[in-house]
Amino acid sequence: MNDAVTPVEPAADCHNGKEKLRAQAAAAGKAEVLAKYAADYPVGPHDQPQSMCPAFGSLRVGLRMRRTATVLSGSACCVYGLTFTSHFYGARRTVGYVPFNSESLVTGKLFEDLRDAVHKLAVPETNDAVVVINLCVPTASGVPLRLLPKAINGVRIIGVDVPGFGVPTHAEAKDVLAGAMLAYARQEAEVGPVQAPRTGKAALPTVTLLGEMFPVDPITIGRMLAPMQLAAGPSVPTREWRELYAALDCAAVGAIHPFYTASVREFQAAGRAVLGSAPVGRDGTASWLEAVAEKCNVPKALLEAAKNATLPAIDAALKAAPIKARITLSGYEGSELLVARLLIESGADVRYVGTACPKTPWAEADREWLESRGARVQFRASLEQDLAAMREFEPELVIGTTPVVQKAKELATPALYFTNLISARPLMGAAGAGSLAQVINAALANKARFLEMKNFFEGVGTGATAGVWEDLPRDRPEFREAQLARLAKQRKSEEAIGC
Ligand code: SF4
Repeated sequence: MNDAVTPVEPAADCHNGKEKLRAQAAAAGKAEVLAKYAADYPVGPHDQPQSMCPAFGSLRVGLRMRRTATVLSGSACCVYGLTFTSHFYGARRTVGYVPFNSESLVTGKLFEDLRDAVHKLAVPETNDAVVVINLCVPTASGVPLRLLPKAINGVRIIGVDVPGFGVPTHAEAKDVLAGAMLAYARQEAEVGPVQAPRTGKAALPTVTLLGEMFPVDPITIGRMLAPMQLAAGPSVPTREWRELYAALDCAAVGAIHPFYTASVREFQAAGRAVLGSAPVGRDGTASWLEAVAEKCNVPKALLEAAKNATLPAIDAALKAAPIKARITLSGYEGSELLVARLLIESGADVRYVGTACPKTPWAEADREWLESRGARVQFRASLEQDLAAMREFEPELVIGTTPVVQKAKELATPALYFTNLISARPLMGAAGAGSLAQVINAALANKARFLEMKNFFEGVGTGATAGVWEDLPRDRPEFREAQLARLAKQRKSEEAIGC
């Protein structure tokens, strides 16, 4: 395989030149990793959902782990954005950065600088692992992270390529790093004894939970499992390296978020059974407990005891906090189908569920359940599809990403941000039912305020005329048309002279 470093034209980035970057990366020795990403994270019906830089997912996984140093290798503008976003979301760790310029990129010096950086960070007293993340330009240029040492002084070195032209969403980028860490930890466990978790080895067989959840959710799941003489294992991505061994050492894996393809592969290689969906709402909880019981050979009597201990409380919570509204929902976290299930069980009329994540076997049960109740489920949903659904179904409440919520509010429709307001709440068990209804019903009650605001701001203008002006600006579509025509002419003459 060719590890040579080749130059890349600066104009190619996440907004353009994706095909060119892919071709350059493949020529520079990254064909294999790109082919793996294409298989793990299939795109379509369109190329890539509109969301944040995918590398944020890997960065976040590294930054949330204790005793782990995370280093970015990429253009300064990308690193600025990623650092800003990680601190916006409360990272309390340093983001490492190895800068480069055209010369160090082209001559291969960047790789040497990265190697020096990991040597400096490989301090066993403070770090279990050092993570290096190649962003778009170093990936396209073939910066060969696989040539980094596998370990220095016992500190594991994990290098991953996470280019925007290879990994579609930040959700799947979490899987890229989690999968790489599980693969490393699995090989360690295969060759000798490994560290026990900080809290000691679990007394009962465990169910590992795949996906970032609200902190109370794993505790709730643990309580649901207890009557079946099972316990909740670590959540993956883990918060510490040693938890990876405990995660692998489980009775079964609950793919709560269904997009962790590389991580599932590692669990399956370790011989673990994997089940999809999650214990949300009454139906969802009953089916999930049954699936766990089947995978872990739990006797029927214990399964019934678990159901009897959990389901009546969920029933009561759903009845105590009904939601009566027509809703469309979309997001890029991977938990969209679960939230939609809970909404429907709470009484809501959910017409559309869009997720930026792909269709996987672990989402199948939820898709079937939702479609059988009249909801349209769109995997790899684009912003345009989310907005079209909003226009088609005229919901009373919209749950979505920032641009969808913005559009809904312009139409005086109450709207909630999926990431900040829905993901940051419990979903599982009775706690999930009560908590979700509270925020939804509070938003629905805001309709009158939205109408009042719409009336108040009526006439201040939209688009080119938005704002407060002394002379109302006039939109000049003819300028844009003339510029487009000039651009087309320029392109033609460039083609004619073969530029
Ligand atoms: S690293 Fe992220 S922000 Fe930078 S060019 Fe790639 S996708 Fe865009």
